[in-house]
Amino acid sequence: MYFGSVRFFKNMILLAVIVAILIPSCTSIGYKNKYEDLLEESSIRKTNELQIIEEIHRIEAEKPAYQEKYPDFYAPQPIEATEVTDNTVYLTFDDGPSQRTYEILDILAEQEVKATFFVIGADDDFSKQAMKDIVRQGHTLAMHTYSHQYKKIYTSVEAYLDDMYQIFTLIKETTGVTPTHFRFAGGSVNSYNLQIYQDLISEMLRRGFIPFDWNVSSGDASSSILPTNTIINNVLSGVGKTTRAVVLMHDSYYRTTTVRALPAIISTLKEQGYSFDKLTPQTKPVLFAYN
Ligand code: ZN
Repeated sequence: MYFGSVRFFKNMILLAVIVAILIPSCTSIGYKNKYEDLLEESSIRKTNELQIIEEIHRIEAEKPAYQEKYPDFYAPQPIEATEVTDNTVYLTFDDGPSQRTYEILDILAEQEVKATFFVIGADDDFSKQAMKDIVRQGHTLAMHTYSHQYKKIYTSVEAYLDDMYQIFTLIKETTGVTPTHFRFAGGSVNSYNLQIYQDLISEMLRRGFIPFDWNVSSGDASSSILPTNTIINNVLSGVGKTTRAVVLMHDSYYRTTTVRALPAIISTLKEQGYSFDKLTPQTKPVLFAYN
C-alpha cells in the first residue's frame, strides 16, 4: 500500500523540500520585485532631484552677477497697478537742478501745477537745496543719471547700475525720499545702449523702478536755443496728438526759452481742458521700446 510505504515517505520528504524551497523563493521573488521597484522609483526620484538641482544651478549660474550689486538699491515698493488718465499732461524736466530750477518752480506754483524733475548728480549746496525744494513743493523728484555721460554709463549693465546707484543715494540722502521713477539719459533706446537696453530696463524693473520716456518733445534739447514760440508750438501740437502726454523739457542753465514758454503752455492747455499731474507709482509708463 502506498500510504505508509517508503515511497510515500520519500515523496512526502521531497514535497516538504520542494515547499521549503519554493515558499521562501516565491516570497523572496515578491520581495525582490518590490525591492527593485522601490530601488527604481528612488533612482528615478534621485534623477529628478538631481535634474532639479542641476536646473537650479543652471539658473543660478545664468543669473547675472549684477543682480547681486547694491542690495539696498531697490524701490520702496514693487511697481503698482497702473492707470491711464486721459487728458492729463505730465510735464517733465530733465538735467536739473540748475539756475532755472527756481524759475520753473515759481511758474508751477503760480499755475498750481505739479510736475516731475529727473535730476542729475549735482551735489553742491545749491543743487541739494533745489532738490529739497522740489520735494517740499510737492513735485516728483526722480533719477535721470549721475554723470550723464553716455559713453560711460552704457558700457555695461554694471556701469549703468554704478551710476544710477549714485544718483539714487544722492536723492535719498539729500531729501529723505526714495526715488521710484527714472529716465534714461538719451531715452530708453539710444545709439549708445542698443546692445544692452533690454537688460537695463529689465534689471531696473526687477528692482522696482519705473522707467519713463516721453511722447511729446518740446525740442528744447537741440544744440541751438529754440525760440520761445517754437517750444510752445512743439508742446501744444504734440499734446494734441495724444490723450496722455508725457512732455520732455529741460531744466538747465541755457534753456531760458523753456522757462519763458512754460506759462503759455500751461495756460493754453488748461483752456483746452487738460489737467496736469506729476508722475506717481500709478501712472502708466511711457516707454519707446514697449509702446
Ligand atoms: Zn538728459
